[in-house]
Amino acid sequence: MRQNGIHHVTAIAGPAQRNLDFYTRTLGLRLVKKTVNFDDPSTFHFYFGDEAGQPGTILTFFPWEHAAPGRLGIGETQETVFRVPEGSIGYWTHRLVEKGVSHEVPQKRFGETVLAFKDPDGMRLALVAVPGIEGEPAWSDGEVPVEHAIRGFHSVSLLLDKAAPTGAILTDVFGFTEIGREESVTRYKAGDTALGGIVDLREAGGFLPGRPGAGTVHHIAFRAENDEVQAQMVEKLLRNHGIRATEQKDRDYFRAVYFREPGGLLFEIATDAPGFAVDEPADALGQALKLPRFLEPNRPAIEAVLPKVA
Ligand code: ZN
Repeated sequence: MRQNGIHHVTAIAGPAQRNLDFYTRTLGLRLVKKTVNFDDPSTFHFYFGDEAGQPGTILTFFPWEHAAPGRLGIGETQETVFRVPEGSIGYWTHRLVEKGVSHEVPQKRFGETVLAFKDPDGMRLALVAVPGIEGEPAWSDGEVPVEHAIRGFHSVSLLLDKAAPTGAILTDVFGFTEIGREESVTRYKAGDTALGGIVDLREAGGFLPGRPGAGTVHHIAFRAENDEVQAQMVEKLLRNHGIRATEQKDRDYFRAVYFREPGGLLFEIATDAPGFAVDEPADALGQALKLPRFLEPNRPAIEAVLPKVA
C-alpha cells in the first residue's frame, strides 16, 4: 500500500547550539543532515530523525541566533507529536523533570496517553505511547536507551478557524481519511502509514492569528512516493481546490513544491527519494557541513558566518 502522511516538519529556532543539544541529547534524535537554508545560506538547516532519516521521522530547523519568539494562533501548527513505546512514558516523564524541560502531566487523547512538553524555544511537542512498536528499529547514541527511543512522528495538530477546507485537502490530495472526533479536534489518518500518519485539525474560531518566530512551525511537508505522484497531487490541488503550487525545487534530499492551504498554513509536497544518504555515507550522516553544489564555491564565506556548533 502506498505510504502517505507527513514527510517532515520544519520549524524556526533560536540559538543553533541549544537547538542541536536539545534534539540530539535530551530527545535522543539523530542529526541526519547539517546543511544551510538553501534560500539563506547564512543560516543552518538541521535535520533530525531516525537512524536512516526516513520520511515521517524528520523534524528540521532554521536556527536564528536572535530570532524573536513567535506566537501560537490560528493558521499555525499547534503541536508536533512523536511516537514512543507504550511502556516508556514513565521514563520520559522522569527524563523531562531531570533535564528541566517544561511539561504537563500525561493525559488521554483519543484513548492514547500523551505527554506534552516544550522545547527551549517554546515549541509545543508531545510524546504518545503507542503499543506494539518496541520492536521497531530506533536510533540511540547512548543518551536515550534504545528501548525508550522516539520512533518517528505520531502526528501534527493544526489550529484553524475552520477545519473543513483543510480536511478536504488532506482527504482529496494526500490520501487521509477522517477517523474520529474529540471535542473540537477532528483526526485524520493516512491509510496504514505508521510513521507520521495522523493529522489533527483543531477548530478554534475567534483566536488571534499566529505570528511566525522562534518556537513556531514554518511548514509541514507531506509525502509523495515520486515525481509522478507529486505531479498528480499538484494537478488535483489546482483542478479540485483552485490552489496553485510553486515550481518544483530541488532540495538535494527530496524534491519539493509548496502551497498555502486554505487555513493559512504553508504545506509542502516532498518526494521520498533520494533521501539523506545521497551525499554522505549512511553511517556518517550529519557529521560534516553539507552544501548544495551551487553553494559549494562559497563554502569558506558560508562557514565564516555560520555560528560555531559542536
Ligand atoms: Zn520542507
